[in-house]
Amino acid sequence: MIEIAAKAWQTMVLHAERTYPSECCGVMLGHAQGENKFVTEATPLENAYAGAQGSRYELRPEDLLAAEGTARLHGLDLIGIFHSHPDCDAYFSETDLKNSCPWYSFVVLSVQNGTFDHANSFLIQIRRWRRARN
Ligand SMILES: [Zn+2]
Repeated sequence: MIEIAAKAWQTMVLHAERTYPSECCGVMLGHAQGENKFVTEATPLENAYAGAQGSRYELRPEDLLAAEGTARLHGLDLIGIFHSHPDCDAYFSETDLKNSCPWYSFVVLSVQNGTFDHANSFLIQIRRWRRARN
């Protein structure tokens, strides 16, 4: 379960709408208690994708690292990453899956005609299969 505080949510929606028709991206900071995640702050980051940004985003590793540092400095955890899908549903695309990591939650915001429409959150589940002992 992921809960996003109103202030953080406003930041995410505003960033997604302002970046339209390009994809936006950013990080969500807050606290994690086991399966429950509480996002208290969102920080917009620059989409560093070199090609057409209408359907792709890329986070610079150094931006992500800096965000991790800022989070720790404020006693927060980096909960996950958000990005937008301009004129597209808030599904988790194959590219999104390829670029994801299991320790982050992902929120996708759908922006239709420049206005926020709906969002979905994804937590990548990694199944560890263990060989039965003898
Ligand atoms: Zn996506």
